[in-house]
Amino acid sequence: MSTTMQERRRNRPKSIKWQAELLEVIDESPDVRTFRFRKPEGWTFIPGQYVMVFFPEVFGKKNRAYSIASSPNNEYLELTIKLYGIFTHHMWTQKPGDVWTLRGPYGHYVLNTESDRDVLLISAGVGVTPNMSMMRWATEEKLERRFLHLYSNKKTRDMVFDEEIDEICSDNKHIKNIHTLTRYQENVDDVWDGRLGRISENMIREELSEWLDSGRELPEVYSCGPEVMNMMVKELLISMGWDEKDIHYEKFW
Ligand SMILES: Cc1cc2nc3c(=O)[nH]c(=O)nc-3n(C[C@H](O)[C@H](O)[C@H](O)COP(=O)(O)OP(=O)(O)OC[C@H]3O[C@@H](n4cnc5c(N)ncnc54)[C@H](O)[C@@H]3O)c2cc1C
Repeated sequence: MSTTMQERRRNRPKSIKWQAELLEVIDESPDVRTFRFRKPEGWTFIPGQYVMVFFPEVFGKKNRAYSIASSPNNEYLELTIKLYGIFTHHMWTQKPGDVWTLRGPYGHYVLNTESDRDVLLISAGVGVTPNMSMMRWATEEKLERRFLHLYSNKKTRDMVFDEEIDEICSDNKHIKNIHTLTRYQENVDDVWDGRLGRISENMIREELSEWLDSGRELPEVYSCGPEVMNMMVKELLISMGWDEKDIHYEKFW
């Protein structure tokens, strides 16, 4: 029997605050790093959720939100973070063995894990993090739902997880990834023969033709990136026939 939205919300994992030991720091791109932490015993989350990060001795009660990029099945918790301002510059000084204060999980941008409906994931830049957690988990769980991931970056240097996403797609025939670059310059940047330009109506029509042309139920949508992209995607998809309640989005800034 399928559960209602209220029941699913009630059953969400409880949030706690804990001191998380930093186990490893992984360079993903010139300005993106993954921070891997030990997880508390029994603590879990739903793919798509986030944690709050505090450095009380440096920033007092101030905090920042970070989507969890790892899968709930992993023994560790990973946050993948782009260097930007006050908090992230402090994070770039952190080394394995240091301790961060984390609180969570939080958030309603969660994969409906009880549905077997197809999924359209849309990610811009480091907005890939919650969607990566969903793809990792879906692959480990051998879900038969189809996932299409539209992933937009400015240049090849900004792409994170691209090799792992390629591996996921070759291991899991239900996941397809389409990468697009918005600021590619021929003869200046690395050679790129994939898609170019922002996520647009034409791109969605072409990549989703198997749903749009066949009458197959439209996928549930998860869009993560800047608000302007999320709003553009939402308006576009509604104009193409999607129901608003099937479009979920997470705003990073
Ligand atoms: C639910 C949620 C999940 C998030 N998950 C992630 C994540 O997985 N990885 C991640 O890197 N960030 C994530 N963020 C953003 C994060 O919370 C911080 O805003 C970001 O790291 C910048 O913090 P800062 O203190 O370094 O910058 P600040 O000093 O706070 O930066 C100043 C201003 O820049 C804006 N800003 C911050 N980052 C960018 C950017 N990249 N491009 C344009 N404007 C920006 C902020 O809105 C702010 O107004 C998430 C935000 C939310 C709300």
